[in-house]
Amino acid sequence: MPSKPTVDIKDLTQNDLERLVLTLGHQGYSARQLITWLYRRRIINFHEMTDLPKTLRETLRRVAFISTLTPNRIETSEDGSKKFLFSLMDGNSVESVLVPDGSRLTLCISTQVGCPLGCRFCLTGRMGFVRNLTTSEILNQILGAQRGEATQLGKTAQWEEATQWEEASKPKITNIVLMGMGEPLANYDNTVKAIEMMHYDLGLALSGRRITLSTSGLVPAMERLISTKLRFQWAVSLNAADDDTRSFLMPINKSHPLKEVLEICRRFRLRPRERTIFEYVLIDGINDSPRDALRLAHLIKGIPCKVNLIPLNESPELEFQRPSDEKIYEFQKILLDKYITCIIRKSRGGDISAACGQLTGTFHRVMNSP
Ligand code: SAH
Ligand code: SF4
Repeated sequence: MPSKPTVDIKDLTQNDLERLVLTLGHQGYSARQLITWLYRRRIINFHEMTDLPKTLRETLRRVAFISTLTPNRIETSEDGSKKFLFSLMDGNSVESVLVPDGSRLTLCISTQVGCPLGCRFCLTGRMGFVRNLTTSEILNQILGAQRGEATQLGKTAQWEEATQWEEASKPKITNIVLMGMGEPLANYDNTVKAIEMMHYDLGLALSGRRITLSTSGLVPAMERLISTKLRFQWAVSLNAADDDTRSFLMPINKSHPLKEVLEICRRFRLRPRERTIFEYVLIDGINDSPRDALRLAHLIKGIPCKVNLIPLNESPELEFQRPSDEKIYEFQKILLDKYITCIIRKSRGGDISAACGQLTGTFHRVMNSP
C-alpha cells in the first residue's frame, strides 16, 4: 500500500521548495511555478498545476499534501469586522479577525492555540497554552479568510479555474497583523517562515509595511529577529510604565524587564519614516494615571515611535475595568503634549468577541458543548 504523503507543502519556504524540487531531479524554476499555483492561484491539487512536468506532479503527490483551512463559522460585527473560526486537523481551533478600514482590509491572525505568557488582562493568556501553529496553519488563515470573504460576498470559489478563483477572491486582504491568539515570537521558526512567504513576491507579495508583528517583549527572540533581513512593522506591548505594574500584568516582565525591552527597541533598524508602535492597554486604576503617562513618555523618549492606547476590552472573566473616556483622553493628552504621536485604538468587533485579547476559539467549545 502506498504510504501517506507527510510533507505539508505550505510549511516550506521558497528556499525549502527549491531544494525539494532540485532533490526530486527537476529545475529550480519549477519551485517558483509551484509557489504561484499555491499562493496566487490557490490551487489545492498538484495535478492541476499544468505547467509543472507531469513526473514532478506525480512525485509531489506521493511525498506532499496541500493543506487548507476553511472557516467553520464566520460572525459579522455591527461595525463590519468579521471573525473566522478555523478548526485545525487535531480538533483544536483558532480565530482570525478581518477588519475593513477605508481602502485597507486588515486580517489579524493567530500564531498559537492559547498563549504560554499568561497576561492577566488577556483571555487568550487565561486559557493557557495548547500548541504552536505550524507555518501552513498561520498562512492558511489568510488564504481561508480570503476565501470565506469571497464566498460570503455571494461569489463562488471556482477551484477548477485558477483565474476565476483570483477574481472570486476579491476584495484582497491588504494588511496582516500578528495580534491574534498567541505570542508570535514564542513560535519563532514557524512565524518567521510564514512572514517570509507573506513577503515573497510570488507568495502573498505583501510589503514589510503591511505586516505588523506584535510582541509582549520576548527579548532573546527579538534579538534574534533583528539580526535577520526580514522586514515588517514592529509593535511592542508595553502596557505599563514601571516594572512592578508590568510584572503584575505580564509575568514575562520578570524575566525581561522594561529596561531590556526598551534597550532592544532603541536598536531596531528602522527605515526612514518607519516607527515602532508601542501598545498600551489602559486599565482602570492600574496603569492609567497621569503619573503613568509621564513615566511612559520618559521611558520611550528618543525612540522613533507612536503609541497605540487600547482601552481594555472587558470580560466577565477579567477582574479589570476599562477607564472612563475622560481618563483615557487625559492620558493621551499628556503624551501628545510631550510631542509623542498617540492614538486611541478603536475597539472593533467587540459585539462578537473579536477585539484585542478576546480570542479563545470559543465558538468551537460552544458548538461542541452538549
Ligand atoms: N502576544 C502578542 C500579540 C497578541 S496580543 C502581544 O502581546 O503583543 C495583541 C494585543 O492585544 C497586545 O497589545 C495586548 O496587550 C492586547 N490585549 C490583550 N488583552 C487585551 C484586552 N483584554 N483588552 C485590550 N487589549 C488587549
Ligand atoms: Fe499572550 Fe499577548 Fe495575550 Fe499576553 S497579551 S497572554 S502575550 S496573547
